[in-house]
Amino acid sequence: MSGPNSNYDPVEVAPLHPEEVAAMRADAIAAIEAAATLDELKAVRLAHAGDRSPMSLANREIGALPPQARKEAGMRIGQARGAVSQALGRRAAVLEAEAEQRMLAEETVDVTLPYDRDPRGARHPLTTLQERIGDVFVAMGWEVAEGPEVEAEWLNFDALNMGEDHPARSLQDTFFLEPQDAGIVLRTHTSPVQARTMLSRPPPVYVVCPGRTYRTDELDATHTPVFHQVEGLAVDKGLTMAHLKGTLDAFATAIFGAGVTTRFRPSYFPFTEPSAEVDLGCFVCRGREPAVTSCRTCKGEGWIEWGGCGVVNPRVLVACGVDPATYSGFAFGMGIDRTLMFRHGVEDMRDMVEGDVRFTLPFGMEL
Ligand SMILES: [Zn+2]
Repeated sequence: MSGPNSNYDPVEVAPLHPEEVAAMRADAIAAIEAAATLDELKAVRLAHAGDRSPMSLANREIGALPPQARKEAGMRIGQARGAVSQALGRRAAVLEAEAEQRMLAEETVDVTLPYDRDPRGARHPLTTLQERIGDVFVAMGWEVAEGPEVEAEWLNFDALNMGEDHPARSLQDTFFLEPQDAGIVLRTHTSPVQARTMLSRPPPVYVVCPGRTYRTDELDATHTPVFHQVEGLAVDKGLTMAHLKGTLDAFATAIFGAGVTTRFRPSYFPFTEPSAEVDLGCFVCRGREPAVTSCRTCKGEGWIEWGGCGVVNPRVLVACGVDPATYSGFAFGMGIDRTLMFRHGVEDMRDMVEGDVRFTLPFGMEL
């Protein structure tokens, strides 16, 4: 009687040959050593030690051997599998250590480095508005002119037809620099820049002069000893009040929106003749009922006091070396701080000088 394996020759179970097992073991160990990353090692583990690996398949063949051959073959395969398993463990330890070193090197954070603790700043809205006004006039072909804040009394007053007895020259209004008879003041308006411009070149002149000015006011909600003005001066042949009106209307439109215009009310300034107060048409209610009645910006007037203007007094032209028989000019001036207040609903002037970034930030950027 013969069973299916009675004359089975173990030599025919090829995967269990000593040479074959040694080759599988060598293949596995070479692949393990060649694995450069943990992912590669995982693939090697599957290929050489997984359930479908040649060594596992060979292991299953042991049962097919005659009993006397099983022990030796089992020991051979077992040793090979043990060696592969150990090699996998060693290689995994090496690769894990390398990965950790690489991670430590790549993700290093130097906690001793200084970092930016300062909160983000913001441009002051007065600066932004001043530059925007300058841009409006530059776009019309004018120039932006600047001058010193410490100014000669003569340029601040006399050249502008403000004689010795003019009230604005009294000590209550003006900061005088010591010694008091030196004739040096902190400029009370930006008008001396106009005088300087006329003295420095022949007409035509089209300049806009924004800048900081000083008067001896107490700091409260509606006054500040340091404030900002923008003045404009045009000197050319044949300039009239009509050119002034057109210029201010264009200015009003550029800053407050289409359709916003100005109106003039007769007034007096020493450096212009005739002179006028400039009112700005309310850009919120547009002067129309019923909105105008409850409008907080113009307080129900429909108009907002904005500044002063006029045709340049010939005496100013003469003082600045310009022949009034040939040339005429117009000038205007307004407070930038006040403009900012009603344009943006700022209630208290002190907010503008205290330098708190919480006031400045909400204005954002004007482009
Ligand atoms: Zn209004």
